[in-house]
Amino acid sequence: MGTSALSVLEERKSSISNERGRGVCCERESVSGAVSQRACVYCGARVVLNPITDAYHIVHGPIGCASYTWDIRGSLSSDADVYRNSFSTDLRETDIVFGGARKLAAAIDELMEKARPAPRLIFVYATCIVGVIGDDVEAVCREAERKHGARCIPVKAPGFSGTKTQGYKLACDAIMALLGPHRGQPKRFGVNILGDYNLAGEMWIIKGYLEQIGIPAISGITGDSTYESLARAPSAALNVVQCAGSSTYLAERMRDEMGVPWVNVSFFGVEDTVASILRVADALGSPAASAGAREFTARRRAEVLPLLERYKPRLAGKRAAIFVGGGFKAISLMRQFKELGVKTVVVGTQTGRKEEYETIGSLADSGTVILDDANPAELERFMLETRADILVGGVKERPLAYKLGLAFCDHNHERRRPLAGFEGALCFAEEIHKSVRSPVWRHVKGGAS
Ligand code: SF4
Repeated sequence: MGTSALSVLEERKSSISNERGRGVCCERESVSGAVSQRACVYCGARVVLNPITDAYHIVHGPIGCASYTWDIRGSLSSDADVYRNSFSTDLRETDIVFGGARKLAAAIDELMEKARPAPRLIFVYATCIVGVIGDDVEAVCREAERKHGARCIPVKAPGFSGTKTQGYKLACDAIMALLGPHRGQPKRFGVNILGDYNLAGEMWIIKGYLEQIGIPAISGITGDSTYESLARAPSAALNVVQCAGSSTYLAERMRDEMGVPWVNVSFFGVEDTVASILRVADALGSPAASAGAREFTARRRAEVLPLLERYKPRLAGKRAAIFVGGGFKAISLMRQFKELGVKTVVVGTQTGRKEEYETIGSLADSGTVILDDANPAELERFMLETRADILVGGVKERPLAYKLGLAFCDHNHERRRPLAGFEGALCFAEEIHKSVRSPVWRHVKGGAS
């Protein structure tokens, strides 16, 4: 192993498996001063709610918080494009001194008067400073609903109020507030897909698979969803949870309060996609759907595996580092790399849970570095020490890889190619292959590609 001058903060050592030689501490607040890769509470809430294509989003806070927009996300829409706009109350010093509630009420009034199509659903995010000055955002939203007849749902998400996971929970509460009035519907055969945000059209791929085996998709939560499609969600016979980190809480609330059972899935990688389709069909208790799922997955698997095989010799001996948002994705990526014959040498997440780290540990080779809530210095050190060839991550990890002269694969919300399902597994193999074998690394590292 090579060495690095970068040392790990004492308080961070329990979050890194090979620093203490035991399990990884997770699900806790970031260490002050460690420059976490995690997004804030507000960003966590916005990740989940932003893909609702006909919703208006008002950020009640300074203009800086509003920079988190659709432009840095990749969720696609089949119709409405309201969600591509962002609105802010742009709080200034005088608003902080005298309160910003009136400014918020005026912003909602202005939106109702000028925005077209006329808003039916507005989310109001209260960010850090509003948490400090204590504007009564709930009262403003209640009054706006009474005055305008549109749903106006507060999301009190100051960045300091917890971790990104708290933001997911607040978004799930906002969705429950939206679904609440529609909970009395009779159940029907079909599923909601939770925790998929239709990045590069992935929701359409998954819905297409289910529909081909006779399972209707009632609502996507929240990829390519609308107010109307979300209102149908309580009628589903089953919730299918793709991103467990962001959506398990919602699935549990829908089970307890609306009688919709749920199952975990992952549509990343061939084997996980096959297992997930079978799990959904079996959970619905329909022999026809189960038989259709077996036929469909056997056929698609047989088609795609020989195509993936072509990449194996070209990737032999390569070593991968993974740093992604949630544990479910890290687990699927480790399995995908195994399918391609690539060794995972570093793996971490922003919001992984204890049981997910246990699964990651069971899939990892000895010597693989497992770390929760990493920072750039740690990622750099461990990627160098383990001689990783490629990093899979998101927008914040990309420059880190390139500065070290490593290949990179974008697996976050801003990507443009689908990585889910059978076609996604092929795209993934192609991207890894293209990036890791690019001749450019020969020039920046002096090695052979
Ligand atoms: S000010 Fe607070 S809510 Fe806004 S982006 Fe920063 S941490 Fe997040």
